[in-house]
Amino acid sequence: MTTTRQWHGGELRWDHLGGDWAVLAPGRAGRPGDVPDACPFCPGHNEDTPQETWRLPGPGEPGWRLRAVRNRYALSDHHEVLIESPHHDWDIAVATDEEVTDLLRAWQIRHRALRQDAAQVVVFRNRGSAAGTSLSHPHSQIAGLPVLSTAVRRELTVMREHYDRTGRPFAADLLTGELAAGDRVVLAGARAVAYSPFAPAAEFEVRIAPTRHRADFAAVPDEELPSVAHVLRRVLAALRDELGDPAYNLILHTAPAGLEHVPYLTWWLRIHPRLALPAGLELATGVPVITVLPEDAAKRLRAHLGDAG
Ligand SMILES: [Zn+2]
Repeated sequence: MTTTRQWHGGELRWDHLGGDWAVLAPGRAGRPGDVPDACPFCPGHNEDTPQETWRLPGPGEPGWRLRAVRNRYALSDHHEVLIESPHHDWDIAVATDEEVTDLLRAWQIRHRALRQDAAQVVVFRNRGSAAGTSLSHPHSQIAGLPVLSTAVRRELTVMREHYDRTGRPFAADLLTGELAAGDRVVLAGARAVAYSPFAPAAEFEVRIAPTRHRADFAAVPDEELPSVAHVLRRVLAALRDELGDPAYNLILHTAPAGLEHVPYLTWWLRIHPRLALPAGLELATGVPVITVLPEDAAKRLRAHLGDAG
């Protein structure tokens, strides 16, 4: 009952009853909170961050628009922080499409860089303390893991079986159904569609799916990224307008290692607002209790988006 896995300085333990992995990261307990005037991600404090691994150069000072650094409080040695802007108050919701496109391209670059010997690389962005972030400077994280979780394996099985049965990607049929129904669609862009899922995991959860199906987000070509960036930016702006800058986790779901070219998988983005803490029933059953219908959530978000697309 003590199955463990060591990987690049990190440790995972297997939960024999729950049937999934736990990541042990005692070093993360020492993470600092926000320190006024001493943000380690702001320009001028570059010496406070660990080794830089990548940057998107920018004109003038500070000479970069995005930069990736090793995570000082890492899950393993394959865990980076992507500092999304030199500006402490920058956010996707108030950014330009070009800036968000640069961010998505940075995710692609760092995903490719960290996936050499990982089973999967997870890209996520925590905003607000209720979403688990310790620093308010805008940043996302890229973390390699040596295993696939049971939850991810289950998703892969559902998508593969659907494809075997129908010859179509699961996500394609899901999107066709959502566009036909319409009442859960938040925003339909040229290359990406945002919708509230039929059975959400959280109030105001929004998923963004591409209209062109591809397993590997890192392989999305340059000409498709701006439309994805546009939909992501506008949906986050609508969430901010409706809910007043809510805490959320933004998660990129993309192909695990070795499955980048399979026809049954589709990458997608999940925005999981943190409006309420999971309570006893959720912990007892693993089943979320959702107090806002996704059809109502979509309608309320659409009201902020107008007809501009
Ligand atoms: Zn800062």
